Amino acid sequence: MRTPVPEYLQGVLDECYGGDVGQVADYIPELAAADPDRLAVALATLDGPVHAAGDVALRFTIQSVSKPFVYALALRDRGLEAVVERVGVEPSGDAFNEVSLEPGTGRPRNPMINVGAIVTHSLVGDPGLGEDERVAAVVDGLSAFAGRPLEVDEAVYVSELDTAHRNLALAHMVRSHGVVQADPVELVRGYTRQCAVLVDVRDLAVMAATLANGGVNPVTGVSVVPAWVARQVLSVMATCGMYDAAGDWFTSIGIPAKSGVSGAIIGALPGEVGIGVLSPRLDHFGNSVRGVRICERLSRDMGLHLMASPASGANVIRYFDADGDSIELALQGGLHYATAEHVLNVMSRVEPDDRPLTLDLSRVTVVNDVADRMLREGIRRLGLDGHDVTLVAPEHLARRQL
Ligand code: GLN
Repeated sequence: MRTPVPEYLQGVLDECYGGDVGQVADYIPELAAADPDRLAVALATLDGPVHAAGDVALRFTIQSVSKPFVYALALRDRGLEAVVERVGVEPSGDAFNEVSLEPGTGRPRNPMINVGAIVTHSLVGDPGLGEDERVAAVVDGLSAFAGRPLEVDEAVYVSELDTAHRNLALAHMVRSHGVVQADPVELVRGYTRQCAVLVDVRDLAVMAATLANGGVNPVTGVSVVPAWVARQVLSVMATCGMYDAAGDWFTSIGIPAKSGVSGAIIGALPGEVGIGVLSPRLDHFGNSVRGVRICERLSRDMGLHLMASPASGANVIRYFDADGDSIELALQGGLHYATAEHVLNVMSRVEPDDRPLTLDLSRVTVVNDVADRMLREGIRRLGLDGHDVTLVAPEHLARRQL
């Protein structure tokens, strides 16, 4: 069988193509030359397959879509406290290139606007790194997210640097507040190179899927950043990723996302999927017009809104039989707070007596910490009630010593 997903994606592109609303970014001369009507989309699943449609071979510069990934690298390399001390996590409600600094401290409001991203760029790798070494660490990190070696488009880099007066002003501002120690000109060169890294939509989808997958690249299996970092980055994307359109985006589409002036958008839905889209026409917020439309469609068609109620915990019980001389309880799927709560609820209905009880976890795929503790306590209490509990657990769960 050939999977129907690429055809579905092509259908979405065809339907979202219409109109010529929006302008290609022209403040970076090289970007002004982009064909406004190129269009591509990719979905990276957490099992590995990547589906794509449209101009999938087209390479473009990553621009601001680099920001969440570089924020992730800074968190990994310096830890939460050191990063949050220098860059906040509050939505700015301002445009991407605004001077959004917290009064008093001079700390940029978040890492998704330029001034915050210039600071997070400075926090990648060891504090002692020189300019080129830091850029190399950033490009290596972005490559690990994409699962292939990425490179900088020097022409776009030079073209943006020639007109980077505003970013230079931002870097000088944070330097004057002591938020960064590095030379502002070096920092803007490094940050501009970071924005000029070349990617295609598949790369974007895999990078997003890595965040959605707790920091593990689903194609290469490499753990790029720890799970707490992925959670922090997705949270900031949810609140700040679409600049001053973040509220509108999150209520209607409900996927943590980030856009860039080349017309790229990524969406990362935790535990589900990574999305990459490219369409260079931008709205006045600097977000891709058709990209937003495509993401709206995908979210609606595939039920991807993060705030939609998730499936009930009831299907965690594969079977439960307490009528005979022994009691059988078999579970399936993932055990987390809500499903473990449901299991405890079922266990609490078992009468105290001396019948043996078998708890079969052979169809359980994952158990998180809270579910592990809840189940353990349930087993202990069933024992106190007089049952002799036998646990059937597959190797990966047995290792957790349930
Ligand atoms: N390199 C661009 C800049 O700094 C990135 C902005 C963006 O993609 N929104 O202006």
